[in-house]
Amino acid sequence: MRNYDESKRILITGGAGFLGSHLIDRLIERGDEVICVDNLSTGSKRNIEHLLTHPRFEFIRHDVTFPLFVEVDQIYNLGCPASPVHYQHDPVQTTKTSVHGAINMLGLAKRLRARIFQASTSEVYGDPSVHPQPETYWGNVNPIGVRSCYDEGKRCAETLFFDYHRQHRLDIRVARIFNTYGPHMHPNDGRVVSNFIVQALKGEPITLYGDGQQTRSFCYVDDLVEGFLRFMNLSAGENGQPGFPGPINLGAPREFTIRELADLILKATNSSSPLVFKPLPLDDPMQRKPDITLARQHLGWEPQVPLEDGLLKTIAYFDNLLAKGD
Ligand code: NAD
Ligand code: UDP
Repeated sequence: MRNYDESKRILITGGAGFLGSHLIDRLIERGDEVICVDNLSTGSKRNIEHLLTHPRFEFIRHDVTFPLFVEVDQIYNLGCPASPVHYQHDPVQTTKTSVHGAINMLGLAKRLRARIFQASTSEVYGDPSVHPQPETYWGNVNPIGVRSCYDEGKRCAETLFFDYHRQHRLDIRVARIFNTYGPHMHPNDGRVVSNFIVQALKGEPITLYGDGQQTRSFCYVDDLVEGFLRFMNLSAGENGQPGFPGPINLGAPREFTIRELADLILKATNSSSPLVFKPLPLDDPMQRKPDITLARQHLGWEPQVPLEDGLLKTIAYFDNLLAKGD
């Protein structure tokens, strides 16, 4: 029987992925009941296998581009490939996942009057001409490029979220997530942190794209998930009005060049892998760093884990994974 106390029944789409699996761990720890929906296209059962027999956890293999009927109190919509290599593999499915997935999840939230969180992205800013990026910046996105399936899909999803908010008074929470790393990243997803760590641990060349002077800001996954929970737990407005919808940037405000990241990883792994330079992928943003003033104000949130410490935990994870031959 369901326990009708403070605990909630929460749906996580993309729950078998990197971020989703960490979020689920926190929710289960807190006493909530979790339904994880995932088509396992980029996620893995390995990330949730410790929960498969847990009485408050349920896994449903399902593609969010199709309607879903479940009864829940809250929804976190994370289902979408996140690495450029993965989302460019089947770009039509990527746009469908963002757009049809948003429509299906918003429809579900509307029927249930459930609060719904959207995992949006710093990619809505494209290759930004404003630096650092505040939420008021409208972005610089190529609508027809190889990254557009992801960027424009996520922008359209934001539009849908805000239209459901205005038109149906839905209680939405839109977070724009900046580069995040940590255990449970896919070893072959092509993202820079996982690539460099795996290459360094295997003694293979570290692949720097372009001259390595492009910048990113890296947030450790535990910090990010704390931001998700604080945002989602902000109470609704007065007289049944929805609460603060965002969009809100969540990410680390410390900026690194990709070359600096490579040096940090080489040092932390004590690796002598050589650096090799490869062509810069099309439309690769040259700089990225969040302005997190809003997150500080509304959530009292800022990342706590320095990159050097988070990298050590991530390296330990990949070291173990490689030792097991995965
Ligand atoms: P991930 O690829 O590890 O996880 C995504 C999960 O969604 C996977 O388990 C995948 O199987 C699932 N999925 C994909 N398409 C689906 C579909 N059609 N139906 C059901 N499930 C589907 O990526 P992640 O890093 O955990 O990202 C999670 C979310 O956060 C994504 O929406 C992503 O766009 C967003 N995000 C992540 C980052 C980051 O740095 N990790 C940055 C910005 C935004
Ligand atoms: N990058 C790199 N070598 C790699 C993978 C990525 O130099 O092996 C660069 C990539 O060109 C980009 C940055 O690292 O400038 C971050 O790439 P990632 O795919 O992690 O995420 P993005 O922020 O581009 O979505």
